[in-house]
Amino acid sequence: MAKRSFTGRLIIIGADRIREQLQELLELEVIVIQEKKFFSRCLICNDLLVAVSVESFRKDALPLYVLQTQQQFTACEKCRRIYWGGSHRERARAFLSSITAAI
Ligand SMILES: [Zn+2]
Repeated sequence: MAKRSFTGRLIIIGADRIREQLQELLELEVIVIQEKKFFSRCLICNDLLVAVSVESFRKDALPLYVLQTQQQFTACEKCRRIYWGGSHRERARAFLSSITAAI
């Protein structure tokens, strides 16, 4: 980085595990975890997601089980991905909450 004349802030993370890495960044006040921003960006292109109704996309775009069990969807207008709250979302929320609770 020094050879490239990097002018930004360089942070060397010592931990190997994601939990400890996030805690290091939180303690250094490099990042802030804001629950209201959870699941607000596309995992593929990082664009902001917008709320969409189930009528706004083709029914074969999602598994039938998802259509039968979910009522709220968000979509990325840039890459057209559709997101919904599944069990993975609650696990991720619990994981992130446990990190902020430990600080
Ligand atoms: Zn996207």
